[in-house]
Amino acid sequence: MLRVAVVGGGPSGSCAAEVLAKAGIQTWIFERKLDNAKPCGGAIPLCMVSEFDLPESIIDRKVRNMKMISPSNREVDINLENDGEYIGMCRREVMDAYLRERAAELGANLVNGLVTKIDTGTKRQGPYTLTYSDYSSGEATGESKTLEVDLIVGADGANSRVAKAMDAGNYNVAIAFQERIKLPPEEMRYYESLAEMYVGTDVSPDFYAWVFPKYDHVAVGTGTMQNNQGLIKSLQEGIRERAKKRLLHGEVIKVEAHPIPEHPRPRRVVGRMALVGDAAGYVTKSSGEGIYFAAKSGRMCAEQIVAASANGAKIPTEKDLKVYLKKWDRQYGATYKVLEILQNIFYRNDAAREAFVEMCDDKDVQRLTFDSYLYKRVVLMNPWQQLKLTLLTLGSVLRGNALAPASYKPVPSAVRSEEEAMAILAVTAIKGGIKVSSKKVPSQGLPTPESTSADDRETVGAGSNS
Ligand SMILES: Cc1cc2nc3c(=O)[nH]c(=O)nc-3n(C[C@H](O)[C@H](O)[C@H](O)COP(=O)(O)OP(=O)(O)OC[C@H]3O[C@@H](n4cnc5c(N)ncnc54)[C@H](O)[C@@H]3O)c2cc1C
Repeated sequence: MLRVAVVGGGPSGSCAAEVLAKAGIQTWIFERKLDNAKPCGGAIPLCMVSEFDLPESIIDRKVRNMKMISPSNREVDINLENDGEYIGMCRREVMDAYLRERAAELGANLVNGLVTKIDTGTKRQGPYTLTYSDYSSGEATGESKTLEVDLIVGADGANSRVAKAMDAGNYNVAIAFQERIKLPPEEMRYYESLAEMYVGTDVSPDFYAWVFPKYDHVAVGTGTMQNNQGLIKSLQEGIRERAKKRLLHGEVIKVEAHPIPEHPRPRRVVGRMALVGDAAGYVTKSSGEGIYFAAKSGRMCAEQIVAASANGAKIPTEKDLKVYLKKWDRQYGATYKVLEILQNIFYRNDAAREAFVEMCDDKDVQRLTFDSYLYKRVVLMNPWQQLKLTLLTLGSVLRGNALAPASYKPVPSAVRSEEEAMAILAVTAIKGGIKVSSKKVPSQGLPTPESTSADDRETVGAGSNS
């Protein structure tokens, strides 16, 4: 009988373990921290709810309005008008625990353990011996144990130990930073079913910043590519500055940061080891979306293992496992490519970002982007829509230069008068979190690391970075 270890109990690992256990395959799923709160915006597309049979209870907020905010603070609302459509906002600690426990109920052996070493056998073909610290007794140090298996699914995220053991090769990573900010009821009510996406050099030179609602707080964060990652805290200052009138009386309850893969690893299957989710490198450009793709890749990889092993009766070969890669690349290769091209065009400078937000005001563009996000399907355009989109893109790109601002201003409060907002800001800033510089972030040019040097900072409270 085939023995499979799934390393990592995030969405990719749990969705793989569930399929394996259902098929009656002997499955262990290792998670180092059962209450792990993965740093994440927690936005999931609608199709994930039905496809992965997720209960309503794990969704904190149903976002029906996504507000795009340009460098000059032009605000464009993308409303989900069809009945029942929404973007789900989840806390990862809740969602991950649910998926993991479901896999365990279906028969996977859930091990609260940190995998510390993997012996991969001759020419990495297995059998594989995992050494792990077992924390199931509740002791902080853990008990060292070993387990021999025939196959490993590496679902252990961006810092994957399985990827190292199989010599999967490196990938570039972006860095994402996020503060969870608790707001008073007035400010929180505004975010009831609304999320915000900010673009501008002040908040990210190559990505976007966000304010995403959770059940009693908002997640405020930003991301940037590896070559700019030294700037991440000054970019976080940028989003705090731009959104500050909507975050009045806010209090930071958590500060978190984590790498995001920028592209797949050079090798995703070696011997009988296969990578899924972030370990494989399945986060999209432009949107930074990875939860759905993690769950889906875990499921697709496991389905391939079940099929190739005849429900666990034999050990699949490397060639068998690579079929999962072929299917994956065929299904999603174009999506990754298109989103990479869009990121390169529209996140390049403020003129392009103005154009991007302006284009999002068009109903056809909204339907196109949201259908592909919500339902993960390619939306075909009729020739008239194609022509209109081309002309719109050209027009917006040409106008972008004129629209791009010389400096950045905070967006107005959505629930208070300007006077009231200014009066509150004069006496209180967001409590806790990163230290905020008193200097303004420069326009267009990247904020330099010096702009957050100790000398010109005012401390608005203590925070910890993870
Ligand atoms: C700040 C931020 C915001 C984001 N926002 C969004 C968003 O809004 N929407 C979206 O779709 N995506 C978002 N992403 C991306 C998303 O978080 C990831 O793509 C997704 O979590 C990948 O899931 P995974 O299961 O592959 O890996 P992970 O979620 O990273 O899970 C890996 C698991 O493995 C465990 N583990 C690691 N090593 C070991 C080991 N040696 N032994 C045992 N256990 C181990 C970890 O504890 C963890 O639970 C965001 C990412 C970041 C950093």
